[in-house]
Amino acid sequence: MGETVRRLNDAREIEQSLQWLARHFDRPARPEFRDARTVDEAVSLLSKHGQGAKLLAGGIDLLGLMKNRVLMPAVVVNVKKIPGLHYITETPGGLALGALTRINDIERSPLVKTRYPILVEAAHSVASPQIRNMATLGGNLCQEVRCWYYRRPPDTGISFDCRRKSGDSPCYAIAGENQYHAIIGGNQSTMRRWRTMSDENVILSEDERSPDRIGRVEESFAALRTSSLEGVGTKDPSPAPSLCSGLRLRVTSSEQCFAVCPSDMATVLLALDAGIRTVDTGGGRLIPLGEFYTAFGNVLSPEEIVTAVEVPRVMPGARQRFIKFRLRKAIDFAMVSVASVVTEEDGVVIRARIVLGGVSPAPYRAVQAEEVLTGNKLTDDLAASAARSAVRDARPLSKNGYKVPMVETLVKRALLE
Ligand SMILES: Cc1cc2nc3c(=O)[nH]c(=O)nc-3n(C[C@H](O)[C@H](O)[C@H](O)COP(=O)(O)OP(=O)(O)OC[C@H]3O[C@@H](n4cnc5c(N)ncnc54)[C@H](O)[C@@H]3O)c2cc1C
Ligand code: SF4
Repeated sequence: MGETVRRLNDAREIEQSLQWLARHFDRPARPEFRDARTVDEAVSLLSKHGQGAKLLAGGIDLLGLMKNRVLMPAVVVNVKKIPGLHYITETPGGLALGALTRINDIERSPLVKTRYPILVEAAHSVASPQIRNMATLGGNLCQEVRCWYYRRPPDTGISFDCRRKSGDSPCYAIAGENQYHAIIGGNQSTMRRWRTMSDENVILSEDERSPDRIGRVEESFAALRTSSLEGVGTKDPSPAPSLCSGLRLRVTSSEQCFAVCPSDMATVLLALDAGIRTVDTGGGRLIPLGEFYTAFGNVLSPEEIVTAVEVPRVMPGARQRFIKFRLRKAIDFAMVSVASVVTEEDGVVIRARIVLGGVSPAPYRAVQAEEVLTGNKLTDDLAASAARSAVRDARPLSKNGYKVPMVETLVKRALLE
């Protein structure tokens, strides 16, 4: 009897929490769950519900975000039951992979292993065998960023309504915990202006760049540093109290997010010059991978679904390499990764494609490094020079400067080993 009463109380509490969260976030407590049986049905459900709907494939990313109340879609459209989206086929142009192909299937495919060993290396490096067995290629490419400010669940007592979630808010990573964030492309326009103050780097936004303004910011910052930083920190929930608190210094960039693209498959697919095939109410399109990601996600419209990935043939004899550096050997995202596809003829590089992962909001094609390599004999010196060029545009934040030498080392290794 006592047990039953306790369970009822628990259920009531859970229900009350759900209702509270629903009110708080202005969303239904439980999303409507719809099974799509065809691509057209999925598109039509997306089109009907717009931004309120989310596709569900393997669920590895989406369900975690929903459990943590980071995303709360009104409608979840399950695409896992759509037939015909789970395949790996050779095509006249190269290779086609259905969006529902599991990462595990890519890792084990003899065809992929023979033609595109770099894809197998990337698939093998993703998460754990259990996750690879559920995760789909489409979901991997469309997964959300891993920024801790973005993902922090509200039930921990604090959640960050950061720039990625709402355009008016600051990016907390800029002056906060940015160890794993972008060193390239987070915001090229505002990152050019840097001020180093003691051991902190501060980025000044566009409207704060006048000499007068910079001087005042420096003075304020110096004053702040000599006062009690701890005291300021406790008054302000901002993770960067020394920069953003009582003095109201807006040390934010104007329009960007510094979280890196977490997808290893995307890094390698860009090195392979792949395209993403989609379907929407207007028919569909083929999006080059290099144009798929934006500063805040990807270019898919709310009613668009990824149906396949198309990979062109690589040149015969091309050397393919994927190297991923992570803190733990298993189940970890790339701190930095490098995918390279290099073709030589008579000892001279005739085509090079170098892509960096973990350094930028989208996989970053190191075009300058490719230019250094093309037309030259691949020697140790040339590889070192290409590696330096790969990070020429790097503008690290205060805590991720270590990524620069890491990229250089990995590029050299990818080219020479
Ligand atoms: C512990 C852990 C470690 C991980 N390590 C790595 C790693 O090392 N490397 C790496 O690359 N990833 C890693 N991941 C991420 C993981 O690989 C992805 O979460 C997974 O691949 C997502 O695939 P899914 O099918 O489960 O997608 P879902 O979670 O179902 O969907 C993810 C997103 O994609 C959208 N989506 C899904 N399918 C489509 C489609 N066909 N068209 C348009 N949108 C779609 C969904 O709406 C959702 O927004 C890790 C995840 C975890 C939990
Ligand atoms: S890096 Fe992006 S996700 Fe992280 S706090 Fe900044 S805006 Fe938000």
